[in-house]
Amino acid sequence: METRTPQGVICQSCSMPMTKKEDFGTEKDGSQSKEYCHYCYQAGKFTDGGATMEQVIEKSAEAMRQMQMPENLIEQTRKYIPTLKRWKMN
Ligand SMILES: [Zn+2]
Repeated sequence: METRTPQGVICQSCSMPMTKKEDFGTEKDGSQSKEYCHYCYQAGKFTDGGATMEQVIEKSAEAMRQMQMPENLIEQTRKYIPTLKRWKMN
């Protein structure tokens, strides 16, 4: 099941909206991942394999600040990331 937001599909690891083909990660066979972005997931593996949820949250918050996203949106993302598929199974 894809998670859709007004922006499109979001990465189930870091919550980045994925709108273009290039935004998506890749599976082991080179096909496009349906759930994870290319920052998080390449060739069937998480690029930050050992990262904790807190590290991913901090990384996303930092990236959002660099994109000049409003602080309340960053706060929402911090609360949202723990509900994503990658983290729910832990
Ligand atoms: Zn991601």
